[in-house]
Amino acid sequence: MTCIFCQIVSHQLPAEFLFEDEDLAVFKDINPSAPIHLLIVPKKHFDSLNALDEKNGNIMTKMWMTAKKIAEQQNTQNGYRILINTGREAGQVIFHMHMHLMGGWGSRAKPGKR
Ligand code: AMP
Ligand code: ZN
Repeated sequence: MTCIFCQIVSHQLPAEFLFEDEDLAVFKDINPSAPIHLLIVPKKHFDSLNALDEKNGNIMTKMWMTAKKIAEQQNTQNGYRILINTGREAGQVIFHMHMHLMGGWGSRAKPGKR
C-alpha cells in the first residue's frame, strides 16, 4: 500500500487525529496554511472527487457534516473554508480524496479570497 493517506487512516503512519469513526478520519495538515487546518479523509480510497459516483457519493454528505461539527468543536464556526483540490491542475498532490477545513482567523484577521 503506497498511498500515504491510506496509511494514515489505518494507523500505519502517524498523524494528529482529532476525530475518527468507521468511515473517515480528521487529522491536522502537516503544513498548515491557516491557524486551524484540518483534513477530512475517507477511509475508503478514492483518487479524487472524479472517482466518486452515485453509489458511494454519500461519503460526501458525511464529510460535510463532519466538517461542520469539527468547525464548531474548534470554535471557528463563524469563519471557516472548505476546499477540495481535484486534479493536478488545481494543485492536488495527494491522490486520496480529502477535504481541507481551514479557519481560526478570529474576528479581525480576514483572509483574502482565493
Ligand atoms: P492537496 O493539495 O489537496 O492534495 O493537499 C494535500 C495536503 O496534505 C497538503 O496540504 C499537505 O500539507 C498535506 N499533507 C501531506 N502529507 C501529510 C501528512 N503526512 N500528514 C498530514 N498532512 C499531510
Ligand atoms: Zn489512499
